[in-house]
Amino acid sequence: MATAAELLIPLRPGLVPVPAAGQAGVCRYCHGACDPNYEQCFPCLEAVRSIGAVEILPISMSVDGDLLHRHLRGYKDDRSAQVRGRMSLRLAALVSVFIEHHRSCVGEFDSVVTVPSPGRVAVEAVVRRVRSLVGGYRPALRATGVGSKNELRTDRFEVLRAVQGERVLVLDDTFTRGPTLFSAVGALREAGAVIVGPVVVGRHVQPGWGPSRELLAWLRSRPWDEGRCCRCAGERADAGGML
Ligand SMILES: [Zn+2]
Ligand SMILES: [Zn+2]
Repeated sequence: MATAAELLIPLRPGLVPVPAAGQAGVCRYCHGACDPNYEQCFPCLEAVRSIGAVEILPISMSVDGDLLHRHLRGYKDDRSAQVRGRMSLRLAALVSVFIEHHRSCVGEFDSVVTVPSPGRVAVEAVVRRVRSLVGGYRPALRATGVGSKNELRTDRFEVLRAVQGERVLVLDDTFTRGPTLFSAVGALREAGAVIVGPVVVGRHVQPGWGPSRELLAWLRSRPWDEGRCCRCAGERADAGGML
């Protein structure tokens, strides 16, 4: 039986460190690229106004078309069940290694909740393979089909059980602009849950977009390291500088 560290090896070339908040051009909430004159990107600003602050904890940046991105699509959509299984296992290894190193960065939680799409809960295939999370996995959301995937509205999700006062670790696969995750977080908060994380496997980045291109220019020159995350030691643009 291979260990998580061994299973992760083929995925490593696709992993990109996540920039720390609090530096110019990095959104303090989602860690994507933003206008250097602001602390956050526009979608996060709107989300914070609507549902309160949500500090996303991405495990890696996910560059459009690259290896991690292909896993994050393929684990749910590849035609071959064998490929889906192999990709799910690698993603589970990544989550497992990350949680092992960053429990205190994630914070204490009572349960693990994933974000469903109408008709399926893709990321469940990953959570069910992560030993440190599966014991606490207690689904709480149903996608209602209301609204579109680009809208932040809490009625896109129905909360299926009592979560009042519960510290809920929210886990999702990919974060792009966030309306789905923010809607899920908003619905859970309205039901009284305390949000932990949310942990997302990949912070999606379009390398062709100017601000992202600049961000990636320095991020991709650094190795992804399981000992560091954007909360405890995120990548900094000036790392290794003379001062
Ligand atoms: Zn943002
Ligand atoms: Zn950390």
